[in-house]
Amino acid sequence: MKSAKSPLFLILATVIAAACLIYALRQRENMVEESRLAMGTIVQIKVPLRPGLDKKAADYAIDRAFDEIDRVEKVFSVYRQDSEISRINGLKLGEEMKITTETFSLIERSVEYTKKTSGAFDITVYPLVRLWQDARMSGRLPAVSEIKKALEKVGAANIILDKTKMTISFAKDGVAIDLGGVAKGYATDRAIKVLQEIGIRDAIVNSGGDIYCLGARSKFRPWRVGIRHPRKSSEVFMELDVMDEAVVTSGDYEKYFTLEGRRYSHIIDPRTGYPVGDYIISATVVSEDTVRADMLATALCVLGREGLKIVDSEKAMAAIVVKDGDKMKVEMAGNVRGSFRVYQKKLSQ
Ligand code: ADP
Ligand code: MG
Repeated sequence: MKSAKSPLFLILATVIAAACLIYALRQRENMVEESRLAMGTIVQIKVPLRPGLDKKAADYAIDRAFDEIDRVEKVFSVYRQDSEISRINGLKLGEEMKITTETFSLIERSVEYTKKTSGAFDITVYPLVRLWQDARMSGRLPAVSEIKKALEKVGAANIILDKTKMTISFAKDGVAIDLGGVAKGYATDRAIKVLQEIGIRDAIVNSGGDIYCLGARSKFRPWRVGIRHPRKSSEVFMELDVMDEAVVTSGDYEKYFTLEGRRYSHIIDPRTGYPVGDYIISATVVSEDTVRADMLATALCVLGREGLKIVDSEKAMAAIVVKDGDKMKVEMAGNVRGSFRVYQKKLSQ
């Protein structure tokens, strides 16, 4: 028997390694990718080149997809005075406003998920979001009375939608909506739709953790999405092979703030008025569209293990990372298929 270090073995190993390297470089060469700042995050779009699809055509499609993301941001950003959402939020009691079918549908869908998630996902959380944003800026925790006052405005039942007139009004003064928990998912779905309309069959759009995988990476491989370790940015603890599905991760990875020595999430429990505790570290949801995955991921950060039941009844699967003593562990739910690989069930801090 030849030893593993025989010249023949070494030659073979070198040839295989070189072939793999050439293949990987080819793959890279055949991929058009672009990243831009949008919606307060980095949005990356990748389109693999195929026979009949050259770089110029891919560049054109990617440009149109980014245009669509910009358009969506202009409509739904609460940070823009001129957005449709900001105008809605300016409504006084008794006033109603005619809105576009697009805005109507997204608000309607959000309200539907407030019911499905027992109030954990609720776009009327905005008065609380503002209160906690002020806390972050001033370095002073909100008073209990302020939380109580903001909570009075919260509740999807305060949104009145009239489908025949396509109008919105609020049941109380001071009600305001924030589509921050769903707009990135919506923009991602819209960007994919634009790419498809141009004739792109394979692409990936990643809006800061809200990912949709259209088609496949290559003829032989689906898209592979790696989920980062919540505390070690260079480590991936879970990988998924995905085709025509969304993968959304929400959590306290980056968007948190520290006040009086405590870590506060940007996700708020609309039932208590307080940011979600540090028990649920992150939630990853796989679903057929990014909007649904986005809403469910935010809801799971509020509900934790209890929310996994909702995932079971939806067309979705999920993995949440929860605290387990001084470690973290992964819990899964839904129709978990073989393409969902968790490398570490227990994670160290
Ligand atoms: P990320 O921005 O990290 O992707 P999410 O999709 O979970 O996170 O959205 C968080 C944003 O959604 C917050 O910044 C806030 O604007 C809004 N939000 C916070 N809590 C809730 C909630 N319980 N339901 C709906 N939206 C929320
Ligand atoms: Mg979300």
